[in-house]
Amino acid sequence: MAKANMDPVKCPMPAQDPTVRNRNFNEVALGYTQEMAVGEATRCLQCKNKPCVAGCPVMIDIPGFIAKVAEEDFAGAFDVLSEQTSLPAVCGRVCPQEVQCEALCVRGKKGDPVGIGRLERFVADWKMENGGELPAPPPSNGHKVAIVGAGPAGLTAAGELAKKGYAVTIFEALHKPGGVLVYGIPEFRLPKAIVYREIDNLKALGVQVETNMVIGRVLSIDELFEQGFEAVFVGSGAGLPQFMKIPGENLKGVFSANEFLTRVNLMGAWKDCSKTPIMRAKRVAVVGGGNVAMDAARCAKRLGAEEVTIVYRRSMEELPARAEEVEHAEEEGIIFNLLTNPKEVLGDENGNVIGMRCVRCELGEPDASGRRRPIEIEGSDFVIDIDAMIMSIGTSPNPLIRSTTPGLEAQTWGGLITKDDNGETTRQGVWAGGDAVSGAATVILAMGAGKLAAADIDRYIQEK
Ligand SMILES: Cc1cc2nc3c(=O)[nH]c(=O)nc-3n(C[C@H](O)[C@H](O)[C@H](O)COP(=O)(O)OP(=O)(O)OC[C@H]3O[C@@H](n4cnc5c(N)ncnc54)[C@H](O)[C@@H]3O)c2cc1C
Repeated sequence: MAKANMDPVKCPMPAQDPTVRNRNFNEVALGYTQEMAVGEATRCLQCKNKPCVAGCPVMIDIPGFIAKVAEEDFAGAFDVLSEQTSLPAVCGRVCPQEVQCEALCVRGKKGDPVGIGRLERFVADWKMENGGELPAPPPSNGHKVAIVGAGPAGLTAAGELAKKGYAVTIFEALHKPGGVLVYGIPEFRLPKAIVYREIDNLKALGVQVETNMVIGRVLSIDELFEQGFEAVFVGSGAGLPQFMKIPGENLKGVFSANEFLTRVNLMGAWKDCSKTPIMRAKRVAVVGGGNVAMDAARCAKRLGAEEVTIVYRRSMEELPARAEEVEHAEEEGIIFNLLTNPKEVLGDENGNVIGMRCVRCELGEPDASGRRRPIEIEGSDFVIDIDAMIMSIGTSPNPLIRSTTPGLEAQTWGGLITKDDNGETTRQGVWAGGDAVSGAATVILAMGAGKLAAADIDRYIQEK
């Protein structure tokens, strides 16, 4: 084992220059070199009680894989990761490590925590570049399981079941698998080739992926059972956008973040050769303060907008987006108009957006969410000149599956009801997990839910 590196500072991540990257869609963070990775890995103290592992929803043996990196055994590090995750290159890039594993890292008490996410990304990328061969499918156990939705929840459940020998088919509504990883998170944060490589690993295990299959329209869940599937996992996400219900929201130039990002990312509207149209506006307002808002704002900038403004009704402290994403957005020239609430979208005689009337807010006592409540200041109205507005104030699960599946119950806000953390729903033989149950959350939580459900589906089928 190499000598412990007691540098209190995490090895910085090399990145594209902000003034260059805000005009291209290439990946922002460039990844560690081998030397950087080994140096960062030796900052890990290899704590006996492994506090970081408790912060990981899929329970990766974090000190275990980091020890292998420190020994320069990168293939071994990948094997340790693979015991618990099938999407390490994705998680290494988009997981909110600062509130999960890294928040519990002992090194974080007197300096920066170990760069766990950056090391995970390094190992996964190293494997893609160096360790070519795909996993072999295990022997069949003769049972069939259907998965609805090819996002992180569905992909994880599929991988776990395929490893146990199940014949797994994923039914995906869109023309490409990946869920938010391909239609929402932009290329410059998560290159799509990386997502497809990790999906190829699942296909190599025998997982079948059927795209353009909207369950509840093309086939119902009852019909999946009739086709011989013994259990169904629903990982259909929370892709239904919410609007503010203010005047002017139906004007030309108002988008939901979902539509905007899907056009840009999944349909490739950022490429000159794309057949999918996208409005290239000059002055864009993005309403909301989460990761989705940051992604929409940074895409709008890259599409050529001169001025992109985040409009958020609370202050910087309450902004729900990851700190790193906010920092990147600021570096790229995104303007933050905080403590501001839109009241009306203004249009011209042709129905095109020309502005947004807003009011200023101040913060009151914390509300049910625990965050300080924004209170509008009377008479503080002002207008921001814009020609496009992107609504990014949240999403909820689409009602299609619950409305076409007898016995499947949901909360009033749309999330499917499960009996416990294993994801068993109120309909026998049907499990659910990820955003379809929790509402919009994170990739790793969706993966954790897919993993628990897969273990429970296995128990159910084996006990039948
Ligand atoms: C723009 C954006 C940025 C984000 N950034 C981050 C981030 O940086 N880090 C992070 O951890 N999380 C992030 N998230 C959240 C994260 O991506 C989600 O929590 C996660 O993808 C949820 O996974 P899921 O599998 O439950 O659902 P999804 O990823 O939504 O996948 C659901 C899939 O089901 C399909 N589907 C829906 N209905 C049907 C049907 N009837 N039949 C068949 N298929 C269906 C959908 O097409 C989709 O492919 C972000 C989300 C967005 C929108």
